[in-house]
Amino acid sequence: MIVPNKKELTDQEYKQLTDIAAEFNCKISIIKGETLTVYPIIGDENSQLMINRFEGLPFVDHVQRLQVPYKIMARGNKTAPSFIRIGGIKVGDGTFRVAAGHCTIDPKNRSLFLESAAAIKEAGADFLRGGVWKPRTNPHSFQGDDNSLDILIEAREKTGLPVVTEVMDDDQLEQAIAAGVDMLQIGARNALNYGLLKKISKSIQGRTTAVLLKRSLHMGPIDEFISAAEYLAASGNLNVVMCPRGTSPAVSGFRNTPDSSITILLKKNTWAPVMVDPSHSVGNGVFVPYEAMASAAYGADGVIVETHIDPKRGIGDDPKQSITPDVLAKLIKNCKQIHEISRTI
Ligand code: PEP
Ligand code: MN
Repeated sequence: MIVPNKKELTDQEYKQLTDIAAEFNCKISIIKGETLTVYPIIGDENSQLMINRFEGLPFVDHVQRLQVPYKIMARGNKTAPSFIRIGGIKVGDGTFRVAAGHCTIDPKNRSLFLESAAAIKEAGADFLRGGVWKPRTNPHSFQGDDNSLDILIEAREKTGLPVVTEVMDDDQLEQAIAAGVDMLQIGARNALNYGLLKKISKSIQGRTTAVLLKRSLHMGPIDEFISAAEYLAASGNLNVVMCPRGTSPAVSGFRNTPDSSITILLKKNTWAPVMVDPSHSVGNGVFVPYEAMASAAYGADGVIVETHIDPKRGIGDDPKQSITPDVLAKLIKNCKQIHEISRTI
């Protein structure tokens, strides 16, 4: 719907609208209101170029879209699954799910990750996370190590938990898929890297591999987040999980601005399961359980939580924001209860 910046358009201005619309096989209708006349677009209003052309006109205030710019991820998609399966575990079926593990696997300390993995399984987690390759702000910081992939896979064999790790480029993508990683994480920094999203979509086509899409630090509109997921689902593999993880700028005292509350907006607009990352949202292990419980209250299908058997011996984010397996066990119990209550609303 085209909203003008004046009460009513002249015939000449209206003609400019209809001429542009015709180029995109659309028509323009007229709704006369008391104080304002608006101009609905009749036809497929999904062309961004058409919207841009309208919004470029001096007498147009803005174009309000009635249709969503994504079709596969839309809540109304009748062919969408009611839940997805990741490494044999259902996500989005009404059971609260938890992925937990190190921010970063220390390639020099295989047993440390294996010990954490065993304790995480014991605490009741459903998935094991472990950072093999890391997006680091400082190029001189530890960037991850190919050898950590082997440690992650060994932990999966020992615990039976499906695993999730972040990939940032073609080479990592190839290695992760070859190793049979169950869920590929796309980090906040790459959530708008459309080239990478397209490559991942192609690579998971016809496979059971899932993708955990983090929200970018600077994503505003919910549609931008869901449209990024649409890139992933484009090749037909709908195993996509949306992951709010806090946005920038941060609330003073937190690492980011916690955004578990957008879960209800995501749920309104897409069928995809939501797993919130409270660890990067608040950035402090002491606060993590609260944001995890908030996620459950907002109706998230689960959380992904940085967890370490001994955070002070960890690398990457682990010393500051990992929780221990005993805290994880409590978090899981509490979140499941809150999730149940939330489902009664
Ligand atoms: C992570 O999960 O360790 C990570 C780097 O996440 P994000 O992309 O959300 O910062
Ligand atoms: Mn981290």
